[in-house]
Amino acid sequence: MKELWVKNGLVFTADGFREVDIRVLDERIDSLVKSEGEPLKEETDTIIDASGCLVVPGFIDAHVHFNDPGRTDWEGIETGSRAAAIGGTTTIFDMPLNCAPSVTTVKNLLDKKEYLTSMSHVDYALWGGMTDTNLANRRELTQMSKGIIAWKAFMSESGIEDFRFVPPDGLKQAMQAAKEHKKILALHAEWEEEINKFTAFYKHRDGMNERKAFLASRPVSAEEKAVSYALELAAKYGTALHLVHISSAKVIGIIDQAKKSGVDVTVETCPHYLLFDEEDFIKSGAILKCAPPLRSREEVEGLWDCIQKGWIDTIGSDHSPCLYSMKATDSIWDAWGGIQGVQFTWLALLDEALKRRINLKQILPLGTANVAERFGIADQKGRIRPGLDADLVLIRLDETTIVDKQSLAFRNAYSPYENREFLLKVKKTILRGKVIYDEQSGVIQEKFGVCL
Ligand SMILES: [Zn+2]
Repeated sequence: MKELWVKNGLVFTADGFREVDIRVLDERIDSLVKSEGEPLKEETDTIIDASGCLVVPGFIDAHVHFNDPGRTDWEGIETGSRAAAIGGTTTIFDMPLNCAPSVTTVKNLLDKKEYLTSMSHVDYALWGGMTDTNLANRRELTQMSKGIIAWKAFMSESGIEDFRFVPPDGLKQAMQAAKEHKKILALHAEWEEEINKFTAFYKHRDGMNERKAFLASRPVSAEEKAVSYALELAAKYGTALHLVHISSAKVIGIIDQAKKSGVDVTVETCPHYLLFDEEDFIKSGAILKCAPPLRSREEVEGLWDCIQKGWIDTIGSDHSPCLYSMKATDSIWDAWGGIQGVQFTWLALLDEALKRRINLKQILPLGTANVAERFGIADQKGRIRPGLDADLVLIRLDETTIVDKQSLAFRNAYSPYENREFLLKVKKTILRGKVIYDEQSGVIQEKFGVCL
């Protein structure tokens, strides 16, 4: 039996941070033992010294687009998962679009699964896509549902040709299908008609700053309308609903109301909505273009309030890369929307949370236990507890991370996090008892990640 000890760290457990040593046996946490605090002479293959470190569960990022297969030049699982490992993320759920073909058929799902084998540095699961095109094919969807972590659908244009959005009427079928499969349905919730109306009004409007016009074309009201409709249907059909990348505190308030009235719903926001605002977008342009777009400073503050009130369930990076040339367009309207961030999600969030004096107990579960619970993998991941996978991150609060170009692990080396400094550092990332990233030696060659 292969044994590993992580000693002398401050470990995030169900009872908060505790001074315990972690014994790992064959990829799983075997026991937590009260730490003697004995300094180690040196680290060995089987003993890791976590003195001075926080030890937290490996992060689970339920929302990435790694573009494999088919658009590997945008990112790819190798560089994407490598960047994730460097940032302390040990499990990702890859979205069904921006790879090519999209995961909307059994064949595409099986092909993607086979293709990804032995290519990932971190563990992963795959989303399946429900679209206007495959919605009528219930048999196909039922078969697909057995091999996916959950369903994803769009309520507005996705920007990907073979991933059509589901119109309001079709959403009823989508809700019913997901309910039948006992799978979560995650939605990109912006109301298509609303966006079209505002886009027609603001696009190429003489004399208006183009970036401001883009912001105005996707208002909070488009999210509100889509979310309200989706909640109504989820209540009616008893569907487990997960609303991704919600950008507004007001909308999260609506979701919380529904949750309290018994709707099976959870909500995700993303680091960029918590760290950047519309002024940053107006200044920086396409590198911060995303949909829904960045919001006002008031909304950013509102989202942090929502975190403190416990109204936000999960945080996902929505890592959505592309070639730099697709950002460097003449017009903001033509630029690809999506933010490269998987490497910095938790450095940035923990840094910001500490600056805001938010107890880490309130924010860590949003990237660990809550995600595992919601997606049904809590018996394997998400906590530091005997019996679970030994997915661990060692973090030091007395060292800093400076994000320079060389440190970007993405295939295309740009990110809105460039030039930021975070007042903490990931020292090691451990996946199922194996150190996959060490600050000194980098990410190991071996692709240790498996499909859940
Ligand atoms: Zn996304």
